[in-house]
Amino acid sequence: MRRANSQPSLEGVPVLSRPQVLFTTAAEMRNEPASCYNCIFYNHDESCQLIGPRVVISKFTYPKVATNDAKRIEYWPCCGMHQHGEPNFGPPTFSASNDPTSLDLIWINAPSLGLERGGANCGGENGGDDCDNYCTDGDDKRDEPSAFCRVLQSTVMNGDVCASWRDDDQLPWDKAQNILKERE
Ligand code: SF4
Repeated sequence: MRRANSQPSLEGVPVLSRPQVLFTTAAEMRNEPASCYNCIFYNHDESCQLIGPRVVISKFTYPKVATNDAKRIEYWPCCGMHQHGEPNFGPPTFSASNDPTSLDLIWINAPSLGLERGGANCGGENGGDDCDNYCTDGDDKRDEPSAFCRVLQSTVMNGDVCASWRDDDQLPWDKAQNILKERE
């Protein structure tokens, strides 16, 4: 039976389940978008306990000065291991040294500057940035309380989030490190 289950089949690409994408509901997120700033593994405004001290993890606004063709945008860090809760506000502690690429560490653009909370959720409500896989008919995803998710092939709520969150203008972690270094 086990061998039969792992044979090639004609069923096509498997549809992922909610546990497989570390799905978290809006209620579990307390209706906040996901970012390092509400993650239990975060050494506040500094680093991640699962990555180590070599990667600086902090939100930033870029570019420093707005130009005619580039407005200033605030970017919030987050990764696929996000666990909602209080960060560590004391001296930094570390429990692992994972590769930031493996944890999918990225920086996420907020819809406006100076929000109390930015980060990721399915539909971009409450200051979040919406996911490319949240499929709506309307012009503004934030207006849709629920929608079809292309990854899960089922309906999700606007404030839900998962580790498969994607956006075409997310910043990779190494680019964010260069921007943070420039600002020192
Ligand atoms: S819409 Fe995006 S963040 Fe929401 S469940 Fe689907 S893949 Fe995950």
